[in-house]
Parts: sequence; structure tokens; C-alpha cells
Amino acid sequence: MAGRLRRCMMLCCTKNPVKEEMAKDTFEEAIAGLQKLLSEKGELEGVAAAKVRQLTAELEGGSAVKHSHPDERLRAGFHHFKKEKYERNPELYGELAKGQSPKFLVFACSDSRVCPSHILNFQPGEAFIVRNIANMVPPFDKTKYSGMGAAIEYAVVHLKVENILVIGHSCCGGIKGLMSIPDDGTTQSDFIEEWVAICKHAKSKVKTEWKDLDITEQCTQLEKEAVNVSLANLLTYPYVNEGVVKKTVSLKGAHYDFVKGSFEFWNLES
Ligand SMILES: [Zn+2]
Repeated sequence: MAGRLRRCMMLCCTKNPVKEEMAKDTFEEAIAGLQKLLSEKGELEGVAAAKVRQLTAELEGGSAVKHSHPDERLRAGFHHFKKEKYERNPELYGELAKGQSPKFLVFACSDSRVCPSHILNFQPGEAFIVRNIANMVPPFDKTKYSGMGAAIEYAVVHLKVENILVIGHSCCGGIKGLMSIPDDGTTQSDFIEEWVAICKHAKSKVKTEWKDLDITEQCTQLEKEAVNVSLANLLTYPYVNEGVVKKTVSLKGAHYDFVKGSFEFWNLES
């Protein structure tokens, strides 16, 4: 099978020598991994073949995700998850069928590049995750922010999470949007600017304390300062406040930089 596999890939590669060259290192690593897999687990031929198809598509077009039909992409994605994860972890999924007891409540941006489960390797059941524009937590307000309030109340009161983590990130479009709101407060969007204005005090602070930085660097500072505003806002929820005082809940801020490949986090001391 391994020999057949290699021939198949070589045929595919001859179609596009430029992309073959660009992807050579990754490609060779992937093939080496597949051959190891096949030598260890003969019964996984189907899985390996699926990976070969994916790699072939990547070599031909840059990305299998970009070029597959969305329906097929969804089917293939779930098939991969079921074969590689669900069916390999019957104990985990058996436990999760009974209920969840996550230790983390995580706020992250909706940005497609910053999925917390990917960057922090959270497994199913580990983290209760809320994602929105620019990973913001509004202050306690039953009339304006009930969706966010419900998530926080459920996670803290019912699931009894022990850690609340707010993750900002590099190149955040929501933060750029906040930075771009004119000083007179006029807005052009239905929802976006009013939403990101939750962290307008962080913007004022950055514009004062970091006035010598260029706009890109100010945005980076604002990505972090906005996290601190969200941490402060979390304390306006009575159950969060009580948990922090009793030390059953800890608040953490974080910043993920996908340009540098770094992740820093800090604790809010009560
Ligand atoms: Zn963002």
C-alpha cells in the first residue's frame, strides 16, 4: 500500500511542479507520517487514503478546503472527526453523553483564525466557549446583553466553571473598528460599532498612554487593554464577583498573536 501510495502522489505532483516545489517539505513530512501510520495500523488504509486525497487536492489547488463543494466539505469534515476522534475515544464520548463539567469559560473572537479549541488544544467537555466580535464581555445589563448574560450565568452558576478566560488576538478587525470610530461617536453600522464600543474606555486609555505609537501598534495595545475592560466587566455579574471573592473562580486575560505564533496570559488578582 505504501508503494502504491507513493506512486499515486508522484503522478499527482508531476501535474504542477511549481506547487510541488513549494509544498515539498510539508508534503514529504506528510507522506512519511502516512507511511508510518500504515506500517503500524494496516486497518487504517481508508483513513490514509482520505488523507492522500486531501494532500493531493492541496498540491493541485493550494487548499482542499477552498476548492471542495461546501456540502462535501461538511461531510468530509464530520467523517474525519468521527473516524479519527469520536470512534477512537468511546470512553470520553460516553462520559460526555452523561453531561458536561468544563473547567473553563472562554471568551474568544469570532475570527476564523483564533478558534480556542485549536490554539489551546481543548478537548470536548473542557471549555464552555462564547465567541463574538472582538471577544468582548459587556457589563451586566438585562435589557441589552441578555445573550451574553445567559452564557455567563449558565457557566458560572450551573456548570460551576473555575476559570474564566478572555482571549484577545492580533490583527483583530473588531478592535480596528473600535479604533476607527470617530471622536464624535457617529456610527455607520447597524450593530458592529455599538458592540465594540463596550471597550471604548480602553481606546481612550491607549490613545492617551500610547499616543506616540503608530495606528497598528496602538491596535495591538488596544487588543490587550480591551481584554482588561472585559475582565472588569465580568466582575459586574454578581455570581462572578462572588466566585472571585471566594476564590472559586479565577479571571484570566490572554493575547494570541498568530503572526508571531505566541500566546501570553495574565491573571486578574482579586
Ligand atoms: Zn477579532
